[in-house]
Amino acid sequence: MRPRKIPLRKCVACQEMMPKKELIRVVRTPDEQIMIDLTGKKSGRGAYLCGKVSCFKLAKKSKALDRALKQSVSADIYDTLEQDFIRVEDEFIAHKEAVTDDEGES
Ligand SMILES: [Zn+2]
Repeated sequence: MRPRKIPLRKCVACQEMMPKKELIRVVRTPDEQIMIDLTGKKSGRGAYLCGKVSCFKLAKKSKALDRALKQSVSADIYDTLEQDFIRVEDEFIAHKEAVTDDEGES
C-alpha cells in the first residue's frame, strides 16, 4: 500500500495538526463577515478548528480567531459563532461518519 497524502491543517485553538475533514473551517469573507463554512469552499481567509465545542471555547478564550483571521473578532461574533458551532457539530459529525472511506479530495 502506498501512503495516501492527507491534507493537514492546524487547529487554531489547540495547535494540533489534523486532517482537513476533521476540522471545521471558519471563514472571513471578502465583505468581512465571519462565519462557519461547512463546505470548506467559501472564499476568504480561513481558520480551522477541531470539530469540538471545547476547542471553540478555547479559541474564544485565547482570541485565536482574531489572530488567525487577522481581524479583531468581537465578543458578540464569538457568541454567534459558538451557537452556530454547536448547531453544526451534529451535522459535522454525521457527515464525517457518512464518509468513512478515504475517498474525496486529494
Ligand atoms: Zn483543536
